[in-house]
Amino acid sequence: MGLAEYNRKRNFGITREPPGAPAPGKRPRRERIFVIQKHAATRLHYDFRLELEGVLKSWSVPKGPSLDPKVKRLAMQTEDHPIAYAEFEGIIPKGQYGGGTVLLWDQGTWEPQGDPHKEFAAGNLKFFLKGEKLRGGFALIKLKGRGPRGGDERAWLLIKEKDAETRDEARGIVTDQRPESVTTGRTLDQIAAQRDHVWHSNRAQLDLAEIENARQAPPPDPLRPPALAERDAPPSGAGWLHEMQIAGERLLARADGDEVTLLGPDGMPLSKAAANRRKRAAADVRLLPAQGLIVDGILTAVRADGHPDPDALPAALAGRGKAALAYFLFDLPYLDGYDLRQVALGRRKELLARLVGRMGEKTCLRYLDHIGGSGIDFHREACRLQIPGMVSRQEDAGYEPRARWIRVPCAPPAPARKRKKISARV
Ligand code: MN
Repeated sequence: MGLAEYNRKRNFGITREPPGAPAPGKRPRRERIFVIQKHAATRLHYDFRLELEGVLKSWSVPKGPSLDPKVKRLAMQTEDHPIAYAEFEGIIPKGQYGGGTVLLWDQGTWEPQGDPHKEFAAGNLKFFLKGEKLRGGFALIKLKGRGPRGGDERAWLLIKEKDAETRDEARGIVTDQRPESVTTGRTLDQIAAQRDHVWHSNRAQLDLAEIENARQAPPPDPLRPPALAERDAPPSGAGWLHEMQIAGERLLARADGDEVTLLGPDGMPLSKAAANRRKRAAADVRLLPAQGLIVDGILTAVRADGHPDPDALPAALAGRGKAALAYFLFDLPYLDGYDLRQVALGRRKELLARLVGRMGEKTCLRYLDHIGGSGIDFHREACRLQIPGMVSRQEDAGYEPRARWIRVPCAPPAPARKRKKISARV
């Protein structure tokens, strides 16, 4: 993939797509899973999820499902969830999307009555549920042209079809009669009290113990971040990852629970005043789904045309001006009790990508992506696109002072004054 293609797709490294591919369709066609999670968030609701197209299609049902065909329940479509989420019961930490307690209220398999892809697209999906609490025919019908502004695109109705599983609500409401977890029998309060299982939305299948060279250890202190060495020519040969050089200031952040410390390029904490000016970056790092971590990146401002503009950083930090604050993260030396400094760069960046995931939509955090292949081609493309330069790092290298991190500016060389300014910042 050439840089132009990369650039077109990634908008200067500002990735927004979720990491990880949809689960391969290994299950037999007729055994799609469904799950209903009772979710005590800002407001109690039931998340109704059907496996379709490799993900869990999801609806938030404020009043919960009913077995009475006369009852139509509003079901607001929400974002697709990974299949792995179907097994989750526990706590979503405060401050994260959907923070609160989750109870697995029902689970089982579902069968479409017709072509589920066509019916879903048409907003008229009919199916049978085979769960513990809910069974029989149901329909999800998308509402059209209703609501104050001509209809909410996400609004559907969940309706029980008439069959042997129908129950009149006058004789009892299934969500009241069976409030308990289908897997553990617990109530929401018991789950909240036990705090046994914490969901990190971007880390569904992440097991740090299995990562090669990850060591269980306290956070490194002091941390000695690798420095960039400037070269005239890009590295040739294999085994390098190339990133675009982002004009801005090098900034590291260490999170320990809710406490975030900002560090300079030397690994030492910023002064109180300097950290205070950058507190918006710290606040967003706090939202990353981890209990403890260290990230390395470049803090800058990004103009509407997608170009980083470090001169606009003070205004962006103060919440003024047109350029948006952006913290491009390119490394992850520590995560949740594991020292990752001996882990290969390629692997650290994979972890970082999963961690940052979709945070970009709500925060200033951006995952700085890379490409492999020829550094010479990348450099030529970068310079043609008027990017200040490139950064190349060895794919299998650790995060240590002797790691080879190379910056290759674009020719012609910047005037001495400007060059000094950039190197002081990066
Ligand atoms: Mn929910």
